[in-house]
Amino acid sequence: MYLKVKIHTQILIAIVLGAMVGLALGEKAEHLKIVGDMFIKLLKMIIIPLILASMVAGIISLGDARRLGRIGLKTFVYYMATTLLAVTVGLLLVNLIKPGVGVDMGAEAAVDMAGRETPSLGSIIKDIIPENPIAAMAENKVLSVIFLSLLLGIAISRIGEKARPLMALFESFNAVMMKITDWIMLLAPVGVFALIAYTIGTMGLSVLRPLAVYMLTVILGLSIHAVITLPVLLSLFGKYSPLKFIRDMFSAVATAFSTASSAATLPITMECLRENTGVSNKVASFVLPLGATVNMDGTALYEAVAAMFIAQAYGISLNIGQQLVIMLTATLASIGAAAIPGAGLVTMVIVLKAVNLPEEGIGMILAVDRILDMMRTAVNVWGDACGTTVVARLEGEELKVQL
Ligand code: ASP
Repeated sequence: MYLKVKIHTQILIAIVLGAMVGLALGEKAEHLKIVGDMFIKLLKMIIIPLILASMVAGIISLGDARRLGRIGLKTFVYYMATTLLAVTVGLLLVNLIKPGVGVDMGAEAAVDMAGRETPSLGSIIKDIIPENPIAAMAENKVLSVIFLSLLLGIAISRIGEKARPLMALFESFNAVMMKITDWIMLLAPVGVFALIAYTIGTMGLSVLRPLAVYMLTVILGLSIHAVITLPVLLSLFGKYSPLKFIRDMFSAVATAFSTASSAATLPITMECLRENTGVSNKVASFVLPLGATVNMDGTALYEAVAAMFIAQAYGISLNIGQQLVIMLTATLASIGAAAIPGAGLVTMVIVLKAVNLPEEGIGMILAVDRILDMMRTAVNVWGDACGTTVVARLEGEELKVQL
């Protein structure tokens, strides 16, 4: 406990120091990139074995497949509902504030979308089934590994006695992975410091000015979702104090902010939930990896606002029906977005295409994507953590803070 409190204070200091050093060093902060990259690599290194070990161990401890189905249903409903709520907030704000009206299209940069292939929804679903399990792991295909872990976990539970050695193996493997995560977490303050210093130093604040109102609209929407919508759900259905929860999850949210990757943050999110909130491994190991991969409230909100911003800048007005299409496609595009930096920008093409907006519009918002990516990823991870706690409570778990 003492260590945990200390770590999140350290991370807070790391963010502030990182910002100051970044501003002071400017372009020279580039040299810190290697430190940030090493931290991200450590996190990435552990994701696949951690998901495999914790999901299989979690499902085995659930016992029966019916309970898994019930948790799955609650998870699905919560994730869909919160994503739709986020998009609704974004759409309301962008219609009220109209950040794109009167934007000078001269600032438009040509954007090269070559190599940024947008996957179709059908192919995303098809690709969940791995042709080769080892290759899926080697290629960091998170959804495929989740699928594989589900199968393994359910089969091991079904077989029972004969699979006992495998049960013991996965449980012990899981404990070992958690230990390694603990160690990586000790390095989080250094990693966060380097990433923030690098980003702020090399970004240059001048790019922010012309797009300030657009950015503020996204940030306002993300804040409403993170500070009002999710905490209300957390207290109502999770019966958990949001103020305590933000302290519990601070290290995860800060890591999400600095890495801009929900997947890379997953080990830390898992660690924070288990250690600080009392959410069981059974629920966390299933709800969280799934959330990191498909539940992206921040991304969905961002994509809806960005698409509307582009429409406004091009002087294209969209009626309610078209905005409903934006709502649905932004939700789907956020589900399809990989949990890596910049993924939301790529799947946004799905939204633009659905309502015939010019893809080149993405060029306008490219310059400020990184900073918004950091923020939406923090909200994505916050949403996953709230969801896991709500599902745990709905499953009757005793958590550390009862309201
Ligand atoms: N970076 C985001 C994430 O990992 C995805 C996005 O680009 O919106 O959650």
